Amino acid sequence: MSRAKALLEQIHRITTQPWTLMEVCGGQTHALLRHGIDQLLPPEITLIHGPGCPVCVTATARIDQALTLAAQPDVILCSYGDMLRVPGSDGRDLLSLRAAGADVRVIAAPLDVLALAQRHPERQVVFLAVGFETTAPATALLAQHALAAGVSNLRLLVAHVRVAPVLDQLLGDPHCAVQGVLAAGHVCTVMGEAEYVDLAARHRRPIVITGFSAEELLAGILACLRQLEQGEHRLENAYASAVNANGNGAARVLLERVFEPVDTPWRGLGAIRAGGYRLRAPFDQLAIASPDQGSSETSEDCCPSGLVLQGLLRPNQCPSFGSRCTPDTPLGAPMVSSEGACAAYHRYQH
Ligand code: SF4
Repeated sequence: MSRAKALLEQIHRITTQPWTLMEVCGGQTHALLRHGIDQLLPPEITLIHGPGCPVCVTATARIDQALTLAAQPDVILCSYGDMLRVPGSDGRDLLSLRAAGADVRVIAAPLDVLALAQRHPERQVVFLAVGFETTAPATALLAQHALAAGVSNLRLLVAHVRVAPVLDQLLGDPHCAVQGVLAAGHVCTVMGEAEYVDLAARHRRPIVITGFSAEELLAGILACLRQLEQGEHRLENAYASAVNANGNGAARVLLERVFEPVDTPWRGLGAIRAGGYRLRAPFDQLAIASPDQGSSETSEDCCPSGLVLQGLLRPNQCPSFGSRCTPDTPLGAPMVSSEGACAAYHRYQH
C-alpha cells in the first residue's frame, strides 16, 4: 500500500465528527486540488483556502502606485512575472502599460535589479518587491548590496507581507470557522516555529507545519485531525525534513537588519497589524513611501476576494467565476496568480 493511501485510510479511521481546516498557502491549495485530496477526504472535513498567496493580497493602492511609476518615461519598473497581470483600481495592469510603451521588466531574482540600475545610470529603476518571508530575505540582500554599492537610481516599492500577523487576526475573529491550521512549510523554513507556537496556544487551535506533496499534505491533515479529535491545540511540525525549530538563522538576521514590521493593508482583508515590512534606517533611503501603509483596504466591488481569502466564499460560488472572471480575463488577483485559489478552482475544474 502506498504511504499516501495509508495516510488517507488513517484520516478516515480517526475522523468522528465535522472539522474545518485551513491550509494557509496558495501552493498547498493548488496541490490539494491537483491531487484531488479535497475529494478523497471524509465528508466531515471542510477545507478552507487561506490567504497565503502574496500576489493576491498585495494592496490595490500599491499596484496603483506601481502603475503610476511605470508610466513615467524615465522609470524602469521591475517585478516578478505574476505581478504584471494584477489589476489596479481602474482595471489596468502593468502588462497593458508595457504594451502601451512603458518599460516594465520581469526579473528572476532581486539582485538582477541592481545590475540593471548599474547598466542604466540615466534611468530610475524601481523594484516592486512582493512576497512573504520566503522572498523578503532576497529583497533585504538587494537593499544591502545597493546601499553598499552607492547606487543612486534604484528604489524599492516594498509590498512584502508577514504570515503570522494575518493568521493572528483571522483566528481572533469571533466568526472564524477554522478549527485547525496547516501552516505554510516554506515560510517556516525561514521563520521557524516560535511565532506559531504562540498562535496555537493563544487561539487554542492546532497548527501543523505542512509541506506541499500529496503525502506531506495528508500527513499534515492527519496530524491536525489527531489533535482535534483528542482536544489538543499545539504547534506540530509535520515537515521536519525542511523545517527546523529556529528556521533559517542567516535569513532571519537579514530580515531583522533591513526591515521592520508595519501595519499594512492586505487586498480584500483590510489593515493587518504588523502585517507587512518596511525598510528601516539606513535602508529606508531606498524606499518609495507607501501612503497605503497604516490604512485599511476592503474588497473591490466587482471582486469579493476578501471573502475568498477568509474562506467565507468558495471561488466557484463567486458570481463572476468562470464567466466574467477567468485566467484570461481576471477581475481579481486570486484569478491571476499561479497560487491564487480562484485560478486553482478554474484549472482543476471545481
Ligand atoms: S472569481 Fe474572480 S471576481 Fe470572483 S473572487 Fe475570484 S478573482 Fe475575484
